[in-house]
Formats: sequence, C-alpha cells, structure tokens
Amino acid sequence: MADAGTRRLRRVSGAAVLAVTWLGCCTALFAAQSRLVDASAADPTLLIELSYATADNFMGETLYDDDRCFLRPGTADKLKEANAFLRMAGMRLVVCDCYRPLSVQKRMFRRFPQPGLVADPRKGSNHNRAAAVDVCLADNDGLRLDMGSGVDEFSEKSRSDYPGLSPEALKNRRLLNDAMTWAGFTSITTEWWHYNDPDGRKDPVMDVAIKDLS
Ligand SMILES: [Zn+2]
Repeated sequence: MADAGTRRLRRVSGAAVLAVTWLGCCTALFAAQSRLVDASAADPTLLIELSYATADNFMGETLYDDDRCFLRPGTADKLKEANAFLRMAGMRLVVCDCYRPLSVQKRMFRRFPQPGLVADPRKGSNHNRAAAVDVCLADNDGLRLDMGSGVDEFSEKSRSDYPGLSPEALKNRRLLNDAMTWAGFTSITTEWWHYNDPDGRKDPVMDVAIKDLS
C-alpha cells in the first residue's frame, strides 16, 4: 500500500498533468480563434448573406449576433479560389453560413436532433471549426440562381444525388460543385450547399461569439 507521501505525490502529479493538458488545449483553441479571418475582407466580391444572422432560417429565429463570415485562413483562401472560378463564368458565390459557435449548434440539435442534417454537438460540426461553408450561386447582379431547393430545406431535394432536378438546377449544382471541389473543398451527399475544408477537420471546436471576433 502506498504511504501518505506517495499518495500526495500522485495527486500533485495528476493535477500537473491535468493542468498541462488544459493549458495545451486552451492554447490551441485561443490560437485557432485568433487566426480566423473575415472572408469578405479576403474577397470583397463574395456575397455574404448569413441566414442565421436573420430570423429567415429553419429555426425561425436570429441565432448570430453578427453577420460577418469568419473562416480559418486556408478555408477563406479556398473560398476565394472557388469564387474566382465562378466569376470567370459570370457568376458569384453566395455564402450562407461560415463559422458557427458551438452554443448555436447545441440549440439547433436540441430542436432538430437529425445527424446528417444537423451535426451532433458532442462531435462538433466543421462549421464549429470554421472549416465549412454553406454556399449557393448568384448571377453577376447578385440574384440567386435555381439550385433545385432552398439552402437548409429538409427534404429529399436537398440531397446532392436527388434525381428529379430540372436541367437548370442540375447544371447550377454541378457548376457549384466543380468550383468548390476544384478549390479543394469536399461535398456531402445529404446537403448540396454544404462544403467541408478537409484541412481543418482536426482544428478545435470553438464557441466564441461572432461579434467578439476581429
Ligand atoms: Zn453547412
């Protein structure tokens, strides 16, 4: 049996390990937060229309305290590349969601616990890592194009492999996919508008308010 001195030493060692782990975690988290960039500053030609900064979304309430789009630097670079690709075709990217605080993810999941449509906050969404975007297409005048369903529409039409699209919507989805994958994003089957930056999948999940980012 360990004597009192040994037990005390173990407690102190355990506390030190916890402190170092916490410090390492939080240092990485603060570093990730401080690196985030405003996508519209990186590319002023992006159309930033965050639906969660208004009440016009599937939750029916304003969830964000700021309408700026923050992303990890590499993700913002990819978005700029995708937009440049589309502008050559006479179109523009509309960005409907970027970084999303974890607390907002929890609110969404409480209301709609549907993995595949709303990510489980225990795992975190790539939006919480500032490494995902929701996007659609607009023409040069900023008018949104027919994509076959609305962004965040909970129906079969939202699937990227939905077979009943009009030729126009199919063409637009393919063009969006070409631009985003060319820039380095990956798509998912359940939501045609959602694209992940694979380089950010190991970044920390964040819960800082958007208004507090600069
Ligand atoms: Zn998304």
